[in-house]
Amino acid sequence: MAQAPFPELTLFITGPTYIRPEVREAGSWPEYGHRDAENAKRFEPIFHNLGIIAGLPADYRTILFLGSGSTAMEASIRSLVAQGETILHATCGAFGDLWHKMSLANGKNAVRLAAEPGQPVTPEALDAALAQHKPAVVAITHNETSTGVTNDVPALCRVIKAHNALALVDGVSIFGGAPCPIAASGCDFYATATQKSLGLHAGFGIGFVSPAAIEKARHVTARGHATDILSHLGRAEKFQTQSTPNGALGNQMYLQLRYIVEEEGLDARYARHAAMRDTTIAFVDKLPGYAPFAAADFRSPTVTAVAAKPGMTSADLRAIKETLRAKGYLFDPGYAKLNEDLEAAGKQPIFRIGHMGDITPAMLKAYLADLGEVLTR
Ligand SMILES: *Cc1c(COP(=O)(O)O)cnc(C)c1O
Repeated sequence: MAQAPFPELTLFITGPTYIRPEVREAGSWPEYGHRDAENAKRFEPIFHNLGIIAGLPADYRTILFLGSGSTAMEASIRSLVAQGETILHATCGAFGDLWHKMSLANGKNAVRLAAEPGQPVTPEALDAALAQHKPAVVAITHNETSTGVTNDVPALCRVIKAHNALALVDGVSIFGGAPCPIAASGCDFYATATQKSLGLHAGFGIGFVSPAAIEKARHVTARGHATDILSHLGRAEKFQTQSTPNGALGNQMYLQLRYIVEEEGLDARYARHAAMRDTTIAFVDKLPGYAPFAAADFRSPTVTAVAAKPGMTSADLRAIKETLRAKGYLFDPGYAKLNEDLEAAGKQPIFRIGHMGDITPAMLKAYLADLGEVLTR
């Protein structure tokens, strides 16, 4: 193979993330035609294993959108929010806000309920917002990557269902790193992507769709083409994508999902993520001046946000990023817009530690040792 003209960096950002050597190698497996029988050899197991990781109820459908998590999120808006209806976005950070912006950009009547950064959306606040806005559709975030908060999806969906609204969930940064709440919540659309806790390159947005959502889409006009969930269903039946997929990613995903389900096992994978969260929180708790940013009972198993020590600025965090690059790591100096807002309010900026996908506890411990040394200088 040709020598890469780029440095090797271990990614401790919040996606994309570290890719195992075996997965890298599967990227050089044979190319194939996406309407040929060879396609199904890759994608029938891919659809099957996605269903297993999702714990998917038998009457739900799986769609692979070409693009990324955002593509799946936009498709849910285009396909499930009808003219004249309201969609409520219950957000607790940048990615919830992004989904709200997508709804506005698509001309939907979108309203927003926002929790304080670091806090989850509460069932009580959601219930009040539902009573006020009477939305037909509600969008929530499973794992808010900008703040490291994991929301209680089943509890929020119980509130949404009590108001007879459709529930859409952004699970982009947690799917594959913690049990998927589709069956437990009865949510109608669950969006995720390949490049976060599944440990793959970006290239597919993944959508899991309930029977109620499919029925609803039939009554929504102007669903677009690539964003029309109904037009994807026929192809998905044949384990295909609507148009030409990234063939290398198909090969890699075949290998990686089999590894997750059959070799590592879901219980072990979720336990590893929970242990990495606990290791990271314990590390932060011992660092003088630093503190975990997310509320105690809602800390993510895939990403930890850390409030910097007093006096440290976002410019300092960007300098730390370069110090760690020289050590072979890619450090995450926080979500830029959130840090601007925090600093404008006289608060400490945050940085994030991604511990998702195939990062091992040993890799994480080595990184934290180097990071701790830099942070306490
Ligand atoms: C990364 C991320 C997105 C955007 O996903 P893309 O795959 O980059 O389009 C959306 N929501 C959350 C919570 C994310 O972490």
